Amino acid sequence: MKEKCPYCGEEIHSEYIFCPHCENRLKEKNYKTKNPFHSDMKDAEMKATRKGVLIKLTGMIILLIIGLAIGLMK
Ligand SMILES: [Zn+2]
Repeated sequence: MKEKCPYCGEEIHSEYIFCPHCENRLKEKNYKTKNPFHSDMKDAEMKATRKGVLIKLTGMIILLIIGLAIGLMK
């Protein structure tokens, strides 16, 4: 199946995701299936773990400060 690029008018394969002539993206659907959101999910996971580490660190610091305060009060 041949199609015409809506951007530059050159003949292209209908399966093409990007036009080889003008490099414009042709298909949102194919683009999404061929580029699954793995990287995005990994990013989100990494952000979540970073957040978790940050929360743990903050908790540890707070405990340390409380411990120091109690130690100073004695
Ligand atoms: Zn084109």
